Amino acid sequence: MSTGSNDIKFIDVVKALESIEATTQRTVMAKLLSSLLKKTPPNVIDKVIYFILGQLRPDWEGVELGVAEKLTFRAIANATGAPIKQIEDLYKRLGDVGETARRIMSSKPQQGGGKSILEFFGGGGGEELTMGKVYDTLMSIARASGEGAQDTKVKLLTYLFSRAKPEEAKYIARFVIGRLRLGVADMTILDALSDAYKVPREALERAYHIYPDLGYIAKMVAQEGQNALAKIHVTPGVPIQPMLAERLSTSTEILAKLGGVAMVEYKYDGERAQIHKTRDGEIRIFSRRLENITHAYPDVAEYVKEAIDAKEYIVEGEIVAIDPDTGEFRPFQELMHRKRKHDIKEAMKEYPVNIFLFDIMYIDGQDLTNLPLIDRKRKLLEVLKPSEYVHLATWRIINDAEELDKFFHEAISDGCEGVMCKSIKADSIYEMGARGWLWIKYKRDYRSELTDTLDLVVVGAFWGRGKRAGTYGALLIAAYDPKTDQFYTVSKVGSGFTDEDLVKLKQMLDPYRIPHKHPRVVSKMEPDVWFVPAVVLEIIGAEITLSPLHTCCMGAIRPGVGLAIRFPRFTGRYRTDKSPEQATTVDEILEMYKEQKKVKIEEGANP
Ligand code: ATP
Repeated sequence: MSTGSNDIKFIDVVKALESIEATTQRTVMAKLLSSLLKKTPPNVIDKVIYFILGQLRPDWEGVELGVAEKLTFRAIANATGAPIKQIEDLYKRLGDVGETARRIMSSKPQQGGGKSILEFFGGGGGEELTMGKVYDTLMSIARASGEGAQDTKVKLLTYLFSRAKPEEAKYIARFVIGRLRLGVADMTILDALSDAYKVPREALERAYHIYPDLGYIAKMVAQEGQNALAKIHVTPGVPIQPMLAERLSTSTEILAKLGGVAMVEYKYDGERAQIHKTRDGEIRIFSRRLENITHAYPDVAEYVKEAIDAKEYIVEGEIVAIDPDTGEFRPFQELMHRKRKHDIKEAMKEYPVNIFLFDIMYIDGQDLTNLPLIDRKRKLLEVLKPSEYVHLATWRIINDAEELDKFFHEAISDGCEGVMCKSIKADSIYEMGARGWLWIKYKRDYRSELTDTLDLVVVGAFWGRGKRAGTYGALLIAAYDPKTDQFYTVSKVGSGFTDEDLVKLKQMLDPYRIPHKHPRVVSKMEPDVWFVPAVVLEIIGAEITLSPLHTCCMGAIRPGVGLAIRFPRFTGRYRTDKSPEQATTVDEILEMYKEQKKVKIEEGANP
């Protein structure tokens, strides 16, 4: 079946793919894959695997073909002489580029365009495609860059199509436009490898967690057998599979599960980042899905490089969008906006971020993943010099359910999603790729935007920083309680203000400035400046949450805990038509909270 001893005919791979495509059972799929792998010579097994996965290299290397449909049609037209219009029409009708290619190739004899291309590559006529040849040509397509790259890509692709049999063309066409549609997952490949090479599945999985490159692992196993896997180590520059958390909904259950005590950390609402510093000093940032996202966060790369004093490392944290003027967190969506921007310099300015580190997995030649969490944390503390942009995730050792709840609400009112409760027992290793009970998340599940706006009274302010220096960066706002005739704080709002608003607000508020808290104001927070309750603003938020920091409805739901607005934002409306006593009342806020909770219960969630 193989051509000589070191390649496999591409048609043999294609036949296997056709069978895989036809099956509806995962077990059959794994069997088919396994028999394909068995007959693949070891030195091209990686290429077969990458092809099946629809990629040229593991995702984290970020190798892109850069081939769109149009370019593919041009290559098919060149190779067959079929008019582009005919190809496009057929594609419109079929909706599958592979089937389009197959049919065009079947109905048209291959033409001269292909021949000159063959000469261009110095290839003799009539040779069958091999996996190696297909892969290498695809790799050359990916590497073509700069001026004339499109033409080079078309030429190379034309070469492939002019040599391909119709069935081969089908898979090549699908591959190049990124729609292979096989649905073979990494786990299925691991099953097939285990079956084909009689290597225990756990050993393969361990290797995959440490070095998520199935082509590489397959080649090692195919060439050297199971023992080769022991040579796979955690390597800066190569992402490891992230450790995942289980979830529970009460603090009592969580502590019971973790043996009565836990390291509880703020659960930041941002993007998970695995940050590597390689031997040659390069910083690489990988996402939760192990994609290389360094290009989106050059600032984070710089911040971390500054903050950690070591030659090589792997650390993990959460990148969070920050309001630079108030230091408050911005919603997670802001990171998405940042990533959508093409001009990264502008994006960095518009959507500044901070990083909150929570783990360290490798440092200067030492794999730390098998150390208990406390030791890893110690290491992190040792090497990290926190800065304005790089912080250690806020954490506390907790052994009391009430304290855990309090910390949870603190995290929420600080703009976090909840907390991560982590085991600190002797076996609390960094469990790569596993969702286990060593980490338990305790979070708010719902974030429905409040449907109603609130009219709230400004009772204090915090000085702005950066762009907002000299004005107020955030305002302390309160709801009114007619029963006591007092104002109870419900939020600190720093979003939604334009530059003009900031100027206007200062002018509006300064006449009400007083050196101490107004007696009708009930607050646990200490702003920089206090005001007589006078100015009413319209505010919208994501939801009403429990908070130990605010006094609105203190104790109404839980002892020692009040209500707050999460992600509050000024809508732009100054309610000069309202007196402070006409502001939203604390009872209304309590109702809104209960209503929201009822909806959540109806929606089947843990309130
Ligand atoms: P999962 O990652 O568990 O599959 P998910 O992607 O939906 O689920 P969450 O359910 O929100 O994410 O919970 C886990 C995520 O929380 C982590 O992947 C990480 O991005 C984030 N996170 C924030 N703070 C921490 C922290 N202190 N420790 C660990 N993870 C944290």
